[in-house]
Amino acid sequence: MAKMTGPENIPVWIDSNRCKACDLCVSLCPSGTLAMQLGAEFVLGKIARVMEPQRCIGCYECELHCPDFAIHVAERSDFKFAKLTPESKERAQQIKANRFMAL
Ligand code: SF4
Ligand code: SF4
Repeated sequence: MAKMTGPENIPVWIDSNRCKACDLCVSLCPSGTLAMQLGAEFVLGKIARVMEPQRCIGCYECELHCPDFAIHVAERSDFKFAKLTPESKERAQQIKANRFMAL
């Protein structure tokens, strides 16, 4: 498969035209990088967003499981990802407890 290229110096990005707001990527993200955002302009009333890119650890769980191929993670050779910290784990738990919505 061709290598996906995204914006420079961005660990993870979302194609908002493809996202079907299923929450799956947010439910799998261990670092609190992602969250759902409400908005009347979105077809389903919400969309996945990269809220805190500096927390992304490059685990690829979001990209591997997105049913709509809407989320992409930078290559490990192109980006220095963060380490998973207790703060990031806690943030991920808070987002999950908030029904995947942004805090
Ligand atoms: S898994 Fe894909 S389709 Fe589902 S919310 Fe995330 S980016 Fe959107
Ligand atoms: S690569 Fe991992 S840490 Fe980064 S946004 Fe996707 S699920 Fe979260």
